[in-house]
Amino acid sequence: MKYTNDLVISDAETNFTMVIISLTGINIFLDGFVPTENLRFRETSLTFKVAETAMEEEIKRMCRYEYPNQKKFLGNFTLSVKTGQFTDSEIIVMLGENGTGKTTFIRMLAGKLAPDEGGSCPVLNVSYKPQKISPKSQGTVRQLLHDRIRDAYIHPQFVTDVMKPMMMEAIIDQEVQNLSGGELQRVALVLCLGKPADVYLIDEPSAYLDSEQRLHAAKVIKRFILHAKKTAFVVEHDFIMATYLADRVVVFEGNPGIDTIANSPSSLLNGMNKFLRSLEITFRRDPNNFRPRINKRHSVKDSEQKKTGNFFFLED
Ligand code: ADP
Ligand code: MG
Repeated sequence: MKYTNDLVISDAETNFTMVIISLTGINIFLDGFVPTENLRFRETSLTFKVAETAMEEEIKRMCRYEYPNQKKFLGNFTLSVKTGQFTDSEIIVMLGENGTGKTTFIRMLAGKLAPDEGGSCPVLNVSYKPQKISPKSQGTVRQLLHDRIRDAYIHPQFVTDVMKPMMMEAIIDQEVQNLSGGELQRVALVLCLGKPADVYLIDEPSAYLDSEQRLHAAKVIKRFILHAKKTAFVVEHDFIMATYLADRVVVFEGNPGIDTIANSPSSLLNGMNKFLRSLEITFRRDPNNFRPRINKRHSVKDSEQKKTGNFFFLED
């Protein structure tokens, strides 16, 4: 149950985890409010999608792109990818424990890794943000933006949708080599979204960001994909952000580092159910504000939902 660690809000993010247990922490994060302290730390609370927007069959009919069944062997590790289809204006979140092959699959989609068995990925016009960011650039952030995304970084829509919320202005005259991990991550996301492409492949945009910045990054990705009508595949470890971002999900299952499966994209509801079943966690939806909340283990709701297979939202 390594992955449940990712559900915990770390100390650095809120400083409140000292006084609240982790599950409470998540619910508090959603509310932006700490009841024990009577303290609000975020002005707006997160709102979540209330209902499934499209049926899976409907999505299939609209799909523009397809990738085939594939296998990749890396040392002792085998990843089996089940065929999938996707379309414009959707965000597909990749969910799975560490070592289940999310980065491997995203690199296959990016055309950087060829499959060892099965057909190849379609040749897509992609923009790829790798998980590991190693800055080679010697100049300032401004020079990097100018060299790499000359048109985008001064385009009014891009400035409003991406540059401002990613707070590029604050670091634009800094040397790239001197940036912190979080600053580099912000620059990397801006570079990725600034490159014209049909498909955006974004591996762990949340890494090195605190909870407030994660929220900004998730909102930026969402708004950008909505406006640009493109596709994004996003590897997101932060479960709350994954829920917020995803139109559909690819769930990775199996033995991490040994043999795993990347399932075909499924609806948010079905995918989250599959994923949460593997973690033995159930969510309910707060009837007042529709936010997801984690049920206490072995509570009446938790047991009921596990029995009926409703690990994600139980419709009241
Ligand atoms: P994730 O992104 O889900 O954490 P990765 O795709 O990075 O997983 O890695 C999946 C597995 O493949 C890991 O066990 C990793 O050690 C292994 N792996 C990745 N690249 C290589 C490689 N070049 N050679 C051998 N094993 C590798
Ligand atoms: Mg990875």
